[in-house]
Amino acid sequence: MRKRQQQALPSPATAWERFRNLLLQERARILRETRSLLPHLGRGERLSDEDQIRAAHDEFIVIEEHRIKLGKLRQIEEALRRIEEGLYGVCQDCGEEISAKRLAAVPWARLCIVCQDRAAAADALDVPASWPRISY
Ligand SMILES: [Zn+2]
Repeated sequence: MRKRQQQALPSPATAWERFRNLLLQERARILRETRSLLPHLGRGERLSDEDQIRAAHDEFIVIEEHRIKLGKLRQIEEALRRIEEGLYGVCQDCGEEISAKRLAAVPWARLCIVCQDRAAAADALDVPASWPRISY
């Protein structure tokens, strides 16, 4: 058993079990939804031009939804791995604790709210997240 570097929450074992269950539930839900999306793809029916355009559009939406779900699924998998590794609830950027409130809302969060905001701001400006944040 590896020694935990940081204890992110008062009683990690029980708290993490709760988050682990949340993550597993969310993963199951996404997998279910993904399965229900897929049959909509590539039915190969003969369609009129107009229907084909609509079908292509629908297909695009389904693929886009699928892409978003897979991204979230990956975040959930990573969060589950962090629980296994005893790193759950620790910001992957600054190493500070992620607040329990934030984890309750976003159990797969890998950044604390400060780093998340900085990453989002950097994203919006298209500059590396490591750049210092300028506040006016
Ligand atoms: Zn952080």
